[in-house]
Amino acid sequence: MGDPIPTAPTKKHGPDCDPSAVSQTIRFIHVADLHGHFGYREQFYSKIKQAHLSALDEDAYTLFTNGGDDYEKGTVAEQLSGGYATLEATQALAFDYRVIGNHDFAWGPEQLLEYSRDDVATVLASNTSYYGNDTEGFNGVDFAIAEVGCVKVGFFGMTSGPWNELDQEVTPPGDFIDDFSMRWDWNNRARELISAYGEQVDYMVMLSHLGHGTDTALAEFVDGIDLVLGGHTHDSPTTTRINNSTVVLPDFNAKGYTDITVTFDLATKTATTSDPQPQSIAESSPIDQTTQTKIDSIMGTYAPDASTEIAISQKQPSRDKVLDILHASLTDFTAPKTAKRYTINASFLNRDEIEDSEIWAPGSLTQEDFHNAIRLSVSRPTRRGSAPYIRSSLAEMS
Ligand SMILES: [Zn+2]
Repeated sequence: MGDPIPTAPTKKHGPDCDPSAVSQTIRFIHVADLHGHFGYREQFYSKIKQAHLSALDEDAYTLFTNGGDDYEKGTVAEQLSGGYATLEATQALAFDYRVIGNHDFAWGPEQLLEYSRDDVATVLASNTSYYGNDTEGFNGVDFAIAEVGCVKVGFFGMTSGPWNELDQEVTPPGDFIDDFSMRWDWNNRARELISAYGEQVDYMVMLSHLGHGTDTALAEFVDGIDLVLGGHTHDSPTTTRINNSTVVLPDFNAKGYTDITVTFDLATKTATTSDPQPQSIAESSPIDQTTQTKIDSIMGTYAPDASTEIAISQKQPSRDKVLDILHASLTDFTAPKTAKRYTINASFLNRDEIEDSEIWAPGSLTQEDFHNAIRLSVSRPTRRGSAPYIRSSLAEMS
């Protein structure tokens, strides 16, 4: 008969069910691929949090969800802290539900365990299993149930395969890191979970870091998913309706979120999912001061000099010129005393990876500017190698 089905953790959100109500809404504020964009300037995280809090004010049955990829690319604080700044910034946002993305494996097993522990958020990891021996264990769960007023919402969460330093998919996919094994039969995994828990819930959500194409294909072939809250694809926000499912891709790099309202007929538990509304974070968007204070403290702890001027650009250099400058500085940094010159793999300073933008406009340059000039990532099974080192070199060079 197979293993017994583990009891899904259940959490209550919002006021009790009103037995006299005939209908009820649930609102989702969904983000994905924040990629550590919490640094000083844009205040994206505290603006996103304020959007969540405003929605919660309007509808007490609001869930704050995150489709994964909290780590990498966003701020020099992540490199300087070995990932911890991003871990803390993610927890500071206090999501209700989040899924692990491929980039969230970047700092190794120990940090992934900590990242799975969150005082507020339930972390979904339905195709990830932990076989290490940390006594506190891994807090990622296969399935969770949200009791939202009169409605029970089921959540499972899927993670995509590893990508390499050049943001290319590694094929065939292998496990990301030690102590964690992955399953890539996403459709079968989804069917298993839906058959195990589907009866216990009124509405089924897949929180997904598989990318919009895979999400849409999965939703087409796997019956019983009402809403896919996606991520992974860095593209304009979009929605696809297929096989009675609404498949949502939000904005990325913390530039926006998608707002979705589902209305339930409580007699039949029939759900109507509104057209998802992508919203951009603007210069003038209001901030949540509590979150901003936490972010400021994280930046102050891990990257106090992130916004200090360390160089001045006198005229806007071309991308090739920037490549030369970075290469020369990096080579010099690698072995300044011995004059020994290391060969630097061109892939780390791929011309096309260098930002050719107003970062280099005449004026002050900070650690964040240098970091933003070349946003590398390290996610791959054999990581913990040179890439983080080279990235911190870039951050510390001045
Ligand atoms: Zn991403």
